[in-house]
Amino acid sequence: MSFKAVRSAYNLTFQNYPGLHIKMRSSLLGEIQKISQPPKDGDPNFQTEQLKFFAKKLISWDLKHSDIEPDDNGVAPEICPNCGLREDDPMPTTLQSVMCLEPPFVLNLISVYLNQVSQPDPKVASVPSAGVNPETLRRLAERQNPLK
Ligand SMILES: [Zn+2]
Repeated sequence: MSFKAVRSAYNLTFQNYPGLHIKMRSSLLGEIQKISQPPKDGDPNFQTEQLKFFAKKLISWDLKHSDIEPDDNGVAPEICPNCGLREDDPMPTTLQSVMCLEPPFVLNLISVYLNQVSQPDPKVASVPSAGVNPETLRRLAERQNPLK
């Protein structure tokens, strides 16, 4: 006898963002550890790696492009200079889309995701939580600032 664990997907909804639905791939324990702990030597690419990781895990979402900031003449361009979309366009699940969102919003999504994927499967009865502490992961995710 042997056992092969089935990879899961997660449907995330958010109390603070009503109407937002995100479907994401699961993560492996090693991936979560790597992405939750900034290296001690302060790897400058760590935050980019975290965002790339998040973008890679996205399967689908129902996110529309925010309003576009006015340019120097005070006129909002029709096309976003950062990602090429128009206001209200559905955003593809790409790193480019992630980079066109505000940091607090993205960090909230990452935090909720990491929290979800670190929980024991609720369908499996009474298994004590494994080594990853969701609260620690959440705090670590909150501390990240991708604009630094
Ligand atoms: Zn954009």
